[in-house]
Amino acid sequence: MTIPRLEIRNIKRHFDGRAVVDDVSLKVMPGQVTCLLGPSGCGKSTTLRIIAGVDMQDSGEIYVDGKLICDTIFRVPPEARSIGLMFQDFALFPHLTVSENVAFGLTGPKKARHARVNELLERVGLTHFADSHPHQLSGGEQQRVALVRALAPRPSIMLMDEPFSGLDDRLRDDIRDETLAVLKDEGTAVLLVTHEPGEAMRMADEIALMRDGQIVQQGAPYNVYNAPKDREAAAFFSDVN
Ligand code: ADP
Ligand code: MG
Repeated sequence: MTIPRLEIRNIKRHFDGRAVVDDVSLKVMPGQVTCLLGPSGCGKSTTLRIIAGVDMQDSGEIYVDGKLICDTIFRVPPEARSIGLMFQDFALFPHLTVSENVAFGLTGPKKARHARVNELLERVGLTHFADSHPHQLSGGEQQRVALVRALAPRPSIMLMDEPFSGLDDRLRDDIRDETLAVLKDEGTAVLLVTHEPGEAMRMADEIALMRDGQIVQQGAPYNVYNAPKDREAAAFFSDVN
C-alpha cells in the first residue's frame, strides 16, 4: 500500500465559536498535485496554516510520510515537518542574493548545497541571476526563485496558497505551466490552494472541493467538473474558461 505524503484526519478549527475548518480529512499521494478548491472564506488558508504548523487545530491529526507530526497533545515544530511553503506573500529575503535565497533551507556539505542551488537555478533558467538581489528581478522571476527555494531541501510535501494570484494575467498561465513542470520533474507532492476552478482544472491530479469549512466533493478534475455534486458546485465551476 502506498503511504500518502500528507494525510490530515478530522481537522477542526474554531474561531469565535464558529467552525472554520469543520472535520476535514485529506490525503496527498506521492507525485500528485491535490487542489483544495473553494470560494474565498471557506477555510482553505486556515487548513494550510494548520498543516504548516503556524496555526493549531482544535482536534484532528496530521501525518507526513505516515508519521504523526501533530495532534492535540504532540506537535513537531514547523521547520522539522519536511514541508515546503509557497504563499502569495511569502516573499524572498531582500538582503540575500538569489542563490543565497535558494540555499537558505539547505543543510549538509557546502559542495552539495552549491550543486543543488545551481541545478535548480538552471532548471528555471535563472543561472545568470545567481548573484542578483530579488528587487532586480521581475515578478515572474521572483516567483520562480520562490518555487526553487521551497523545493531545494526536497520537502515531502509542498503547500501552495494561491501562489499565482499576485501575477498579472499575461504571465499567469505560463508560470502555472512552468511551475507544474518543475514540480513533476522533482516528483514533489503538492497541496495547492486556489479559489479559481480554472487553475485547479489546469494543475490538479485530484480536486477537493471545499465549502463552509468542509470538503463536499473530491475526485479527478474531469469527474468533479462533469459531475458536480449539486447546483452550488455546478455554479462554482461554470466560470471555467
Ligand atoms: P480562505 O483561505 O478559504 O479564503 P480562510 O481560511 O482564510 O479562508 O478563512 C476562513 C474563515 O475564517 C474566514 O471567515 C476568516 O475570516 C476566518 N478567520 C481566519 N483566520 C481567523 C482568525 N485568526 N481569527 C478569526 N477568524 C479567522
Ligand atoms: Mg486564503
